[in-house]
Amino acid sequence: MATATASTKLLPEVERFLSESPLRGVIGGRDVAASDGATMSTRDPGTGEPIAEFSVLSAADVDRAVTAAADAFRKSGWATMAPNERGAHLHRLADAVEKHKPIIAQIEALDAGKLLPHAAGDVQNMIDTLRYFTDMAQHVQRRNVLAVAGHEAWTVRHPWGPCGFIFPWNFPFLLIGWGVSPALAAGNTVVIKPAEDTPLSAIYLGRLAREVGLPDGVINVVPGTGAEAGAALSAHPGLKRMSFTGSPEVGRLVGEACGRNLVPVKLELGGKGAAVVFDDVDVAATAEKLVGAITFHTGQVCCDATRWIVHSKIYDRFVDECRQRLERVEVGYQLDGKTAMGPVVNAKQRQRVLSYLEKGVQQGAKAVLAGGPADVAGRDGYYVKPALLAGSLDNVAAREEIFGPVAYLAPFKNEDEAILMANDTDYGLANSVWTSDLGRAARVAESMVAGNSWINAHNVFPRGVPYGGVNKSGTGGGVNSIETLFDYWRSQSVVRPLG
Ligand code: NAD
Repeated sequence: MATATASTKLLPEVERFLSESPLRGVIGGRDVAASDGATMSTRDPGTGEPIAEFSVLSAADVDRAVTAAADAFRKSGWATMAPNERGAHLHRLADAVEKHKPIIAQIEALDAGKLLPHAAGDVQNMIDTLRYFTDMAQHVQRRNVLAVAGHEAWTVRHPWGPCGFIFPWNFPFLLIGWGVSPALAAGNTVVIKPAEDTPLSAIYLGRLAREVGLPDGVINVVPGTGAEAGAALSAHPGLKRMSFTGSPEVGRLVGEACGRNLVPVKLELGGKGAAVVFDDVDVAATAEKLVGAITFHTGQVCCDATRWIVHSKIYDRFVDECRQRLERVEVGYQLDGKTAMGPVVNAKQRQRVLSYLEKGVQQGAKAVLAGGPADVAGRDGYYVKPALLAGSLDNVAAREEIFGPVAYLAPFKNEDEAILMANDTDYGLANSVWTSDLGRAARVAESMVAGNSWINAHNVFPRGVPYGGVNKSGTGGGVNSIETLFDYWRSQSVVRPLG
């Protein structure tokens, strides 16, 4: 297959992996092609050219994967083995991912259009998350004696069974780590449906799981379309839990399908975060950080600050600092070392960004920095320039998630007004407040309605701090913390009347 990479030096292991095209799913420890033979290409967002073909698994194949996960749960010993033994398996998997980190990072950078250092950071994040939950599961008390008069009573926590996971294309490998690590550490088995734009790193992980000797069927990977494989997974009655990360529109469909089977579902959805900037900040340093946040992974970050609500006293200066920085951002191919901002994931996403710019301006927003398509010499990829819009927040570009390097600016006069503006959204994922007055910072942080509030920073994810969304941004968070580990155990009460 002609790869997008003719002029880019790929690792021999990456070349070898891609040359196995069509790359198959992993079910019950075996590489599995679609039962109807269907394949499709995954493309390099930086060139628009195909990188590899992969098998597009059907609803029947997804059913086989859930059966394989259910069999592994019941028969492989995974669910019942001592936590330290299961931990040894998962540490071997983390070690294998670490050993193959440069390979997975390059695959991820090619497939998702990520800058190579960012892709490497995502792989490390997955490794760290897997180790974090693996160790935690060994030290959490799963049996609790209850002091109840006249009874001997206790609770015990068991893994649920096969769990389904559907992931988006923006952080394919990192989000696998966030999603499946607690489920596996708790003793569940998993079926992973990666996004059709970015199936490669999930397939690679499925193979590594087999290589390190995880029991067959503990990790299954079903590449395919959302409409078929995703819908089949979310509607499967054999699942015991479901986790979906993606858009609110699809999240609703997944929630409905799970509801019909009474399968508990965790939804991690989009956002339209605010950054509230007070007049006592270092204006240049704050502009630098927010510009860094909006250009990171070309703004395709669910928890980004996309509405910048700035005190009127510093508004003009802040806008100017941001504009100057954004004008200098080097847009380029994701594997070129000098690139500061790579492509968006596909042509549809580029069109989405461009059309929001157009609609925003039509509805009265001022284009401080117009954005638009970006040309990158010799690469016919999906590039856009960063953009800044300003004006009333009652504008489609300030209300809806764009998922690109576009920030929307608006001034405020006092704290109450800023909080009202930040909360005037259907979403509720992550906001930040920027001020040197830490009392005010805490007050505003607690008043902003969302799963996460950050102070003098944006996109902060230390392990141990629960992450999740509310309202249109999701249900059932606790990601990256002990809360989500407990989600993957069902609690059972045992009681014996005394006397
Ligand atoms: P998407 O909703 O279009 O797709 C996500 C996944 O759902 C893909 O695997 C897709 O194949 C699958 N899918 C599509 N149709 C389906 C259906 N009918 N049934 C079941 N599955 C189906 O989202 P996307 O465009 O891949 O990702 C971008 C979105 O994800 C943004 O809204 C972003 O904010 C959100 N996101 C949220 C978080 C979070 O932690 N809250 C993290 C990353 C991304």
